[in-house]
Amino acid sequence: MKKYNFNAGPSMLPHGVVEATAAAVLDYNGMGLSFMELSHRSPEFKLVLDEARSLIKELLDVPGGYEVLLLGGGASMHFCMVPYNFLVRKAAYLNTGVWASKAMKEATLFGEVVEVASSADKNFSYIPKNFDIPADADYLHVTSNNTVYGTQLHADIDSPVPLVADMSSDIFSRPVDVSKYACIYGGAQKNLAQSGLSFVIVKESALGMTGRAIPSILDYKVHAEAGSLFNTPPTLPVYTALRNLRWIKEQGGVAEMERRARLRADVLYSEIDRNPMFRATVEGDDRSFMNIDFVMASGYEELEQTFAEYAAERGLVAIKGHRIAGGFRASCYNAMPHEGVEALAECMKDFSKR
Ligand SMILES: *Cc1c(COP(=O)(O)O)cnc(C)c1O
Repeated sequence: MKKYNFNAGPSMLPHGVVEATAAAVLDYNGMGLSFMELSHRSPEFKLVLDEARSLIKELLDVPGGYEVLLLGGGASMHFCMVPYNFLVRKAAYLNTGVWASKAMKEATLFGEVVEVASSADKNFSYIPKNFDIPADADYLHVTSNNTVYGTQLHADIDSPVPLVADMSSDIFSRPVDVSKYACIYGGAQKNLAQSGLSFVIVKESALGMTGRAIPSILDYKVHAEAGSLFNTPPTLPVYTALRNLRWIKEQGGVAEMERRARLRADVLYSEIDRNPMFRATVEGDDRSFMNIDFVMASGYEELEQTFAEYAAERGLVAIKGHRIAGGFRASCYNAMPHEGVEALAECMKDFSKR
């Protein structure tokens, strides 16, 4: 049976990317060595790392004056690295859910933290608008896509202070105006590669400004000056990232990824809105194109487990919601084929007919 993987992360990758990684593990480019066995200082790895970093610049049209880093660790590591590297006195955070709150918590270790707005009042089911940003904040931190609650900032906001974004779960799913940001970061395991790797796009002129002593491994400036080779990066995930970035480029780049993501999201939200058995937890423009959250509509709550099993029997994997949010979540990253969401919509239709 064909399976569609709706995991939220680590998540689905294009099959060809998985195959290429598997082949490189067994024998990289006919060298008789596994890619895992190559030195991170070898010319072969250097080529892979350089191409991956330059493809990130190309795909996102990164302007001059920015460094691209591929580092070990996850997005959570940057929850601490961001304030370590940018917070002098005060930082502003937009609280749109679990990940934003975790980022904010780390920042309190480094200085004053202002919550500019929060959507906690409605269980993070929307993105706050029209909030004030303190002009004296060292930066404003936003989470572009809220993986757990299924909300997304579909445009790059204007900020009077340097803008920092956690783009873990929607990077490479749409064009980004990188020039609006001082720093973009995320974990690789949602839309770039397997876990163990993180990405950073950082404005060089924003680095080295805090006057604070920073442990080398947590200092973006150290990593930038070392060309992302200060220490050993997770080499195999860098290879997977390169193959995935090549795939995105071949498919038509991030604009094409966005077009497909909108179509996929449209199929699912339309069915959820139409089908009386289901209800979306997010309304309107804040709906994520990456993580589509829904619950059983009122009166049908007791069918949740039955629907979960029904979907699993049809090869629709991992549609259960986050343990905090409950209900269902269909994560549809770049690799999700259109047939995957059609199969899920069909499954919801058939379930309601039973
Ligand atoms: C998954 C996720 C994280 C956490 O990533 P780790 O790599 O596990 O630290 C942080 N932010 C967002 C938006 C995420 O989706």
